[in-house]
Amino acid sequence: MRIVTGTISHETNVLSNIRTDLEQFRRRLLLHGDEVLKHFGNTRTPVGGLIDGCEEKGFELVPTVFASATPSGKITAEAFDSLLSDLLEGIRGASEIDGVALHLHGAGVSEDYDDIEGRILEKVRELVGEKPLVSTFDLHANHTELMVEKADVLIGYDTYPHVDGYERGLEAIGIIERMLEGSLVPRKAFRQPPMMPALQAQFTGRHPMKRLMEAALEMEREPGVETITVAAGFPWSDFKDVGLSIIVTTNDDQEKANSLADELSDLAWSLRRDFLVKPMPVKDAIKRVRSAAEGPIILADIGDNPGGGAPCDGTVVLREVLNAGLENGVFTVMADPQAVEKAEEAGVGSEITVELGGKTDELHGSPLKVTGLVRLISDGRYIRKGPMSTGAEAEMGLTAVLRVGGVDVIVTEKRLQPTDLQLYRSLGIEPSEKKFIVVKSSVHYRAAHDPIASEIIELDTPGLTSPRLAGFGFKRLRRPIFPLDVEMLGITELKKMDEE
Ligand SMILES: [Zn+2]
Repeated sequence: MRIVTGTISHETNVLSNIRTDLEQFRRRLLLHGDEVLKHFGNTRTPVGGLIDGCEEKGFELVPTVFASATPSGKITAEAFDSLLSDLLEGIRGASEIDGVALHLHGAGVSEDYDDIEGRILEKVRELVGEKPLVSTFDLHANHTELMVEKADVLIGYDTYPHVDGYERGLEAIGIIERMLEGSLVPRKAFRQPPMMPALQAQFTGRHPMKRLMEAALEMEREPGVETITVAAGFPWSDFKDVGLSIIVTTNDDQEKANSLADELSDLAWSLRRDFLVKPMPVKDAIKRVRSAAEGPIILADIGDNPGGGAPCDGTVVLREVLNAGLENGVFTVMADPQAVEKAEEAGVGSEITVELGGKTDELHGSPLKVTGLVRLISDGRYIRKGPMSTGAEAEMGLTAVLRVGGVDVIVTEKRLQPTDLQLYRSLGIEPSEKKFIVVKSSVHYRAAHDPIASEIIELDTPGLTSPRLAGFGFKRLRRPIFPLDVEMLGITELKKMDEE
């Protein structure tokens, strides 16, 4: 059997002023043909799962394109057309295929399409006719009717932090095998309760997402149930299908799919009050660090998460931390190519004064003038040791460690979330020995940092990924939707939070 695969992956924050052109994909990852197998072989990633799944079953996996850009603004029409044609040409060129296993994100928006995944699946379906078409999806997918109609089976991650991509890749190949044998006839039910939870509330290690996922996993064990996706959605894609969605796939039992999907949708809605989150003011968190006997305390700058399209050069937390004179900390990361260049020019051991960060927009604090010691310059490459994307290489671009006061500030060329402790260790920093670590991330940092943290604090910071969703002025959501239309909820907690 020959299974063709391809990926066009982007989580689009339409409020970001970073244009997502082809260069943005090249900066993160853009691979063609066998390069895809070479990059993802022996990795615990979705494509790694597809590769191993095919190998186990004696199938041949035919790669086309893998394109992924760090979350940012709308994908240009030109970039999307070019990537989609790479994918379609790759499928056309792969003669005699038996099925398709894509890996998509689910929250991609281009200048021409609100729902790029629906468009991708529609065009692939046109090409392959009745052949099995299965795709894995991120938990942040905003699923649409078009996606559900065009794919035979949609398989979402069950975890945030996303640590089950590999297993979902394996699952996709198993499903295609059973469809080809004729032992699986997928029947799907799709539900979109009117809810749009903030990123913090989507953490699957904590109530209420934990409860919702447990219910879905329990249903998956029932006979005749094939796979269930609970996608928490990505608010900043700002179009009518944004938000939490549920897809139940059974083996030829539409009625069961419908009733389980209704049950999960009702459960999500009944938990809505618990999806409200309240982060801590930065000043209170600093007091907590100062009085703590041991560390590391993880301070999460959830407003400036590059994984949600924020610029990753916000200065709000660093300013407070330096003003407070906190010692033995690390700041991860400040994406500022100009500052890195200056550090490299000066060289290791030199003292430099730079305007750090605050260069992308006005939402994340102004540039911060600092004087620090250049401790180290690196090419910013390391191999992830897990638990996310274990074995895959990370590239931060040119990277400098700048010692400012009592803080090691990791300054990078590229934007990225700290999702792996190798990030620190590749730079000679032992994170477990620090008193505090500032991370620019909403939830993904938890997978690697939980085991070493004495405490984790979500900071109430301004920015493009803040949980204060009412303040963004979204224009194209379906309304009413939680938590924006509080009259639907009969509660006022969120309103109060926004007024504070
Ligand atoms: Zn995600």
